[in-house]
Amino acid sequence: MFEMAKELLKQLFRKPFTNRFPSKHVPKSTTKLLKNVKEGMAKVNRPVPIPEGFRGKIAYDKEKCIGCKLCIKVCPANCYDFLEKERKVKYHLSRCTFCAQCVDVCPVNALTSTKEFLLSDYKTH
Ligand code: SF4
Ligand code: SF4
Repeated sequence: MFEMAKELLKQLFRKPFTNRFPSKHVPKSTTKLLKNVKEGMAKVNRPVPIPEGFRGKIAYDKEKCIGCKLCIKVCPANCYDFLEKERKVKYHLSRCTFCAQCVDVCPVNALTSTKEFLLSDYKTH
């Protein structure tokens, strides 16, 4: 209990680990923010450095995959479909919770956690 209170007090006086990204104030319009940045009227805050062990978007190396289905078994979010014909998997990014259990279980390191976290896109994956 004492340890917890000590840690809580320490955290109260620490600087935040995150920053206001992409700008100090939440923009009403991203287009306007970008225009203002171009004209030197606003500044974009860069993201804080990504720490070691960060769990971002999963990278899948199809060549390495042996089709063992272990990733399918452990994934709590049902992110993988098995492609019977190819004996490979298909990863669905939009379902992923970035827990990295699939990375830990893959016996041939076909799956890795990348540092990629800006994942909004017009493409469907
Ligand atoms: S990181 Fe977690 S949620 Fe995402 S695909 Fe792997 S096991 Fe599934
Ligand atoms: S755990 Fe690895 S080798 Fe097995 S199916 Fe998934 S990606 Fe392929």
